[in-house]
Amino acid sequence: MPPEALPEAPPAALRLDIDRAALAENWRALDRLSGAARAGAAVKADAYGLGARRVAAVLREAGCGDFFVAHWREAADLLDVVEAGTISVLHGPLTGADSAFAIATGVKPVINSLEQTRRWLDAGGGRCDVMIDTGMNRLGIPLAAIGDEALRRLDIDVLLSHLCSAEEDVPLNARQLALWQQARRHLPHRRASLANSAGIALGPDYHGDLTRPGLSLYGGIQREAMRGSIGQVARPAVALLQTRTVSAGETLGYNATFTADRTMRVGTIALGYADGYLRCWSGKGAMLSAGRRLPVLGRVSMDLTIIDLGAAPDLAEGDWVDVDYALDAAAAASGLSPYELLTLLGRRFAR
Ligand SMILES: *Cc1c(COP(=O)(O)O)cnc(C)c1O
Repeated sequence: MPPEALPEAPPAALRLDIDRAALAENWRALDRLSGAARAGAAVKADAYGLGARRVAAVLREAGCGDFFVAHWREAADLLDVVEAGTISVLHGPLTGADSAFAIATGVKPVINSLEQTRRWLDAGGGRCDVMIDTGMNRLGIPLAAIGDEALRRLDIDVLLSHLCSAEEDVPLNARQLALWQQARRHLPHRRASLANSAGIALGPDYHGDLTRPGLSLYGGIQREAMRGSIGQVARPAVALLQTRTVSAGETLGYNATFTADRTMRVGTIALGYADGYLRCWSGKGAMLSAGRRLPVLGRVSMDLTIIDLGAAPDLAEGDWVDVDYALDAAAAASGLSPYELLTLLGRRFAR
């Protein structure tokens, strides 16, 4: 078929509803909780799977002026959504092409090593952010290296470090705070930043000039102090493809892991591990319909899952149900982290 003759694709049988008002309200709450500091936003990994372009547009409108992505490609994808100078690339420049892209666009690299420092300066340099390692030993310039003369030649906007355990009350938090403060005294910079979502709740000492929430923007609550302020943003929903009645003794799905002990009405939904609804939900997850719980029965398969329709006799083929996906409870039930729960949701969801 010539392209102009192609019909539009039919709607998906999977939907990820994004509550834009809740997203904006979460950012405003985190900005408030950040006290004298402003809140930025971690929108890496496609805004934790919610759609970085959509999320960045909502947050920019709400007043957010700093966006953190991991990859250069993720920055390129946002250039027509937010001002280039408000985007920072956490992985930093790995190649000359990365530096050239930063210089041509105005996107800021986050410099993570002395090698990256030299690469950036050799390319011509300019405004950048710098990540100092205060204990993660993942990315960042070791504190022992902050006397290096190359660092003095950088034009540092945000001096950042990253907390390992902000959601826990452990001595490592205070140790990282002290090392970050030491770095702030040694390296000239415009703004300083330490706290991720959970770090915001550690108090004003941790706020600096800019905080970098990610998970809590999208509804994750890792500290009780935030519970009243953060609302659910992502709501997956799925279509019911078929219903059937099974008799006592019949089994359901792969490997026959579930056997009906009575006559049951069950439904098959268009959701499986290819969509990020992993096998760990087998026999544990549930769908929701008008407040009624519809438990997952047997194994989750690649594209399909079977649910118990006992509580919802009115539901029929073509109806939609919500996935029970309140992040806290879903994390506890599945054993997955709330970060995984969000970033897993696959490309077949219409967002
Ligand atoms: C992902 C990330 C964040 C956001 O962390 P959350 O725990 O999701 O709030 C902040 N800073 C850096 C460096 C990150 O990589």
